[in-house]
Amino acid sequence: MLDKSRLRIAMQKSGRLSDESQKLFASCGIKINLQQQRLIAFAENMPIDILRVRDDDIPGLVMDGVVDLGIIGENVLEEELLSRRAQGEDPRYTTLRRLDFGGCRLSIAMPLDAEYTGPQCLQNSRIATSYPHLLKRYLDEQKVRFKSCLLNGSVEVAPRAGLADAICDLVSTGATLEANGLREVDVIYRSKATLIQRDGEISDEKQELINKLLTRMQGVIQARESKYIMLHAPNDRLEEIVALLPGAERPTILPLAGDKNRVAMHMVSSETLFWETMESLKKLGASSILVLPIEKMME
Ligand code: ATP
Ligand code: MG
Repeated sequence: MLDKSRLRIAMQKSGRLSDESQKLFASCGIKINLQQQRLIAFAENMPIDILRVRDDDIPGLVMDGVVDLGIIGENVLEEELLSRRAQGEDPRYTTLRRLDFGGCRLSIAMPLDAEYTGPQCLQNSRIATSYPHLLKRYLDEQKVRFKSCLLNGSVEVAPRAGLADAICDLVSTGATLEANGLREVDVIYRSKATLIQRDGEISDEKQELINKLLTRMQGVIQARESKYIMLHAPNDRLEEIVALLPGAERPTILPLAGDKNRVAMHMVSSETLFWETMESLKKLGASSILVLPIEKMME
């Protein structure tokens, strides 16, 4: 029997979001033993149960209040929201945090030889997609009438198979489209993974645990996006050097033994340093430039 006092989190069992979701839980200090075939994994060191399901089921589990939290692609979440609204429901949930993985775009693609000058070219066409509601919302705004052909997989073969004139599908690199003789013509939705919470009453203990997890996630994500930078700099170029560093806070300045003209600078930057910036730093007289990853941060 499931213990309702434990926080229940739904994640994708296997697929593009599962590794990153698992990594995020681990870096937040949740110890779980994910055995391959188990639907539920119990955290060893916190009152948390992880439910591992198909990603399509996650928005519904949160909206129906079956789980407390879920990690899901915004594309799937938004499609479920529109679908439920179309059926007269008023689904509720709260977005806690947009995450830094699962990035992709939902795009319209057409055969390479088809002409496309704008959404009007799709007037009265047949479009294959797994996201009929997101597609309809976009084309309704453009006042384009179309027929959708609902396919839950292999959407990219629909034009070649004569099932549709165009497709609307997820793209990250575009390699799949190219392999199927298709060209991306319009981006209709940009998505990332996101953490959502169910609506309604929640015990103080659970809410406290959620807040703790959120703070930890914030620290993990911020650390992943930041770098620790160390370099040696001539005393008279310090301001110019700091100005080159993206999103850096004020640096720590330390003396260099036996060198009165130069100092060591340490700082946290909110972005990585590109080679071009490192080359410009070098031109200003900086040397021994080190860019290090940061594991955790707390402000
Ligand atoms: P499931 O078996 O859980 O239903 P799935 O096959 O529907 O899995 P995946 O292909 O694993 O789903 O994708 C899950 C999510 O990953 C997508 O909904 C999307 O948010 C995100 N994603 C990131 N990049 C891509 C991509 N290139 N193609 C498809 N989805 C991507
Ligand atoms: Mg799915």
